[in-house]
Amino acid sequence: MSTTIALGQPTVGDAELAAIAEVFKSGWIAGNGPTSRKFEAAFAAATQADYALATSNCTTALHLAFHCLGAGKGDEVLVADYTFPATGHAVMYTGAEPVFVDVLPGTATIDPAAVEAAITDKTVGIAAVDYAGQSADLSTLEQIASKHGLWLVEDAAPAAGAQHAGRSAGSFGDAGCFSFHGRKGITSGEGGALTTKHADLDAKARKLHAFGIESALDRAESTDLPVPEFDELGFNYKLSDIAAAIMTVQLERMPTLIADRTKVADRYNAALAGNELVTIPQTAEGNVHTWQAYTLTLDPTIDRGALAQQLRSQGVQCNIGTYASHLQPLYGFKQTCPVSADLFKRHFTIPMHANLTDDEVQRVIDTLTTALPQARR
Ligand SMILES: *Cc1c(COP(=O)(O)O)cnc(C)c1O
Repeated sequence: MSTTIALGQPTVGDAELAAIAEVFKSGWIAGNGPTSRKFEAAFAAATQADYALATSNCTTALHLAFHCLGAGKGDEVLVADYTFPATGHAVMYTGAEPVFVDVLPGTATIDPAAVEAAITDKTVGIAAVDYAGQSADLSTLEQIASKHGLWLVEDAAPAAGAQHAGRSAGSFGDAGCFSFHGRKGITSGEGGALTTKHADLDAKARKLHAFGIESALDRAESTDLPVPEFDELGFNYKLSDIAAAIMTVQLERMPTLIADRTKVADRYNAALAGNELVTIPQTAEGNVHTWQAYTLTLDPTIDRGALAQQLRSQGVQCNIGTYASHLQPLYGFKQTCPVSADLFKRHFTIPMHANLTDDEVQRVIDTLTTALPQARR
């Protein structure tokens, strides 16, 4: 049998290894050190944000954002239903309640009209999600947030490098949260970042991500012996400087990695646009997609499980899109989001990463186009 074509794969190599060697030599491999500072400055510049804070992952960045924006018991946060459940979890960590809002069928991002309809006197903020590497309609959401006095957080976990209306993911609303997990477009295995335009939010999150005290780097650079005081219940949400070193290289490579993924997406789109058994992913006007994942919507006549079995037996990995949060038992089945529920059933992701060869892309296309008619119910 031919080799397996992975659904996702990191693109890491000699340049990242050299950066790791450097940080080893520097002696500072823990978090919140000189290499993290350097990465944060580069990431803020790349996302057109005023501030960036490196975090252990996106979920901790989301928790910090919601916490620092004041979410707590008795509050409702409007959350895009179609997402990896980290978004809802992070709202719950603060004691606030996630209220799941349906998404648009084309982009699978939160429906601004449904957001407005879901606002109550308990609503404090909106958490939008950039599904599969494409921004939500953030410009419209900013207007809604400001009209109703709500904050807006962008869960940009898969969307480093994405653009919406001429602006970068991470520059919208009150905060942007990114993931550098191995399945994302740029990665250090695990990792994340919190971007913001607010100096006070950055300062608060920065303090709380390191136990609630001033940074060890500032103390190390001092000539006297500063003894920090613990006056706030902080967390340990730091990114190690080893990971920050990897991320500094990944960020430099980001334009090339996105271009490589875009080439794959263009070939899939060209080959599958005319196939009546699938709908190709839609990129909204004014968006630059980063293609963290490539998601087809299957015709209702297709048995997704049978299709997956066909592909997997031929070494082509595949998966669902993501989760309909309102259908997860943890959240108590309080809302209905029919579009999200439908995408949860019919979305189908096929291999997408920057290492795919032309031959592999062709093999995915051929395997899929042969298997589709056979997987009809
Ligand atoms: C991957 C992902 C997360 C979780 O990111 P971690 O870095 O693993 O915490 C959160 N939200 C979305 C939309 C994601 O795709």
